[in-house]
Amino acid sequence: MPQSGLPEVTVPRRLRAPAPGWTATADVIVVGSGIAGLTTALRLRRRVDRVLLVTKTVLDEGSTAWAQGGIAAVMSPEDSPAEHIHDTLVAGVGLCDVDAVEALVREGTDAVWDLIALGAEFDRGDTGGLSLTREGGHHRDRILHAGGDATGREISRALIAALDRVRDDPGIEVIEHALVVDLLTDADERVCGVTLHVIGEGQVDGVGAAHARAVVLATGGLGQIYASTTNPSVATGDGMAAALRAGAVLADLEFVQFHPTVLWLGEGSRGQQPLISEAVRGEGAFLVDEAGERFMQGQHPLADLAPRDVVARAIIARMRETGTDHVYLDCRHLGAEFLEQRFPSIVQRCRELGFDPATQLLPVAPAQHYASGGVRTDLRGRSSLEGLYACGETSCTGVHGANRLASNSLLEGLVFARRIADDLTTRLAAGELPEATPVAPAGQPELIRGKRRLDVQRAMTAGSGTVRSAASLAATEQTLAGLAARAVDDDADKQGGPKSWETTNLLHLGRALTYAAALRDETRGGHVREDFPARDDAHFLHHVHLRRSGSGVLEATVVPVPPSNLDGLDLDGSGASTPLDVLDKARAEGTVTTKPLARHTQSVDQTVDDTKETQ
Ligand SMILES: Cc1cc2nc3c(=O)[nH]c(=O)nc-3n(C[C@H](O)[C@H](O)[C@H](O)COP(=O)(O)OP(=O)(O)OC[C@H]3O[C@@H](n4cnc5c(N)ncnc54)[C@H](O)[C@@H]3O)c2cc1C
Repeated sequence: MPQSGLPEVTVPRRLRAPAPGWTATADVIVVGSGIAGLTTALRLRRRVDRVLLVTKTVLDEGSTAWAQGGIAAVMSPEDSPAEHIHDTLVAGVGLCDVDAVEALVREGTDAVWDLIALGAEFDRGDTGGLSLTREGGHHRDRILHAGGDATGREISRALIAALDRVRDDPGIEVIEHALVVDLLTDADERVCGVTLHVIGEGQVDGVGAAHARAVVLATGGLGQIYASTTNPSVATGDGMAAALRAGAVLADLEFVQFHPTVLWLGEGSRGQQPLISEAVRGEGAFLVDEAGERFMQGQHPLADLAPRDVVARAIIARMRETGTDHVYLDCRHLGAEFLEQRFPSIVQRCRELGFDPATQLLPVAPAQHYASGGVRTDLRGRSSLEGLYACGETSCTGVHGANRLASNSLLEGLVFARRIADDLTTRLAAGELPEATPVAPAGQPELIRGKRRLDVQRAMTAGSGTVRSAASLAATEQTLAGLAARAVDDDADKQGGPKSWETTNLLHLGRALTYAAALRDETRGGHVREDFPARDDAHFLHHVHLRRSGSGVLEATVVPVPPSNLDGLDLDGSGASTPLDVLDKARAEGTVTTKPLARHTQSVDQTVDDTKETQ
């Protein structure tokens, strides 16, 4: 097994928080109200008696509502599941779980049609057909979008409207401003609830305990772990951190996607930064350097539409060569009229910030965008802990491997939420996952002050960010260990609060991510390992699984990936004998057929039956 070279890392079992002052019960607790949490809760409530949906702030706060580009799915007869699968596997650089990708793509089409039937309105062309576009790494037009570049907002609106229609149903309870702090476990380490802090009224106020037969974590990503990210402020990795502390396996944490084209607002900019969607390049925008020279041509056959890691690396290389901290995106030739109609939100945001994409070059640089790893699950969404499920960006289903293909994450949340709801329905009806009694966790709780957040972010950006090395990872861990060591001195924040809980979550995840990153020499997927620049398949093909042992020490298991995972993948984009060629040939020979898209003819006016199903 490779050595991380880092000292032992310990993580406590829980965060310091007041003892629960109230208790609630449910069959299933769903944590988070993005596409993953809302889809799970809506599907569950039709079959399970008591569903409790809790969310940290308000229902539409999360990455889902920020998604611009769209949702990928095979919706056109020109496309095929095999091609979407191939593009996903190539982006994941051989580390995807092929079964998970198959499930994503093959169930994705129906899941999207169901979303449309639920009320999501995607953009359509003049003849009324769905308008499909293309993004980096996709070889076919398969990205559905809404409101031009407001896809996530529309999906979020449709799901919340569906929830509002059933809100009076006694089978579902929704609590907003409810921050889950930790997971409750019984004597057999089965997850049986959560502790949560609610800003509420009456009985449900302050820290309480919610007990359930199962918990679904759908808390989104961890973008706030870095100084600069496209993720909203709620993306503090709370669910991943709670799962880590409870002993669940986390996988592929080191694979963080840095989006190549985030508007560069100057060196001091912190927190959520404006994203310039890949779809803008999909419509013809291209990258240039300081001298106005295009630099993506010749780097990859897809040039400016190469997979994100390729584009991000090329930008980083060009910034280093020219000694600058950004490059430029040229959209001017697309024209004001087209840009305003196709990308209304992006254009408006740019103009608010003093940049006009129709007349000016946009300064852009890579920033954190997506967590490809997370709580390791199987194809049913089950984690390594009985009673605990994870969905959406919090999870690691194996769909993304080393790098997520653009617009596959909304699809993943949608498809795996359905799988989780179906699995839980079957298990609860069969009497599995009986109610359990939580036991008090062993060991000392930990908490650092909220004001230390910038220290965590700076350390992660400097050493565990886009450019990494053994030395930079070691320096980051040293800083983070120093912050953890000072936790005991942070008396002023003894009982904690949202800011300090979130910041401690970032610290725990930062240490885990850095540890996992140090176990991987050559790396791909949005970031660069500068001390291992050459491709090295033999040492690359593994997953790092991390879990907290009973003593609190992080234990890593290196899980090899068979070299055959790379077979047939056109990883360098040379196009030589790719599976697409093989597919085309097979189609011509009639040995492969495109899956019929029967639901294309379905009326989009169909509404989903909201009535409760009987078991
Ligand atoms: C700017 C931007 C653009 C993007 N564009 C695209 C795109 O075009 N296509 C695509 O496929 N993907 C895109 N993505 C990624 C995609 O939006 C996310 O991966 C996806 O929406 C995640 O969905 P989710 O349900 O897992 O999490 P989220 O939508 O992030 O929801 C997480 C939920 O958990 C809640 N929560 C967090 N912590 C707690 C806690 N402790 N207690 C209770 N609740 C908690 C949050 O408040 C939130 O409700 C984009 C992301 C960003 C940031």
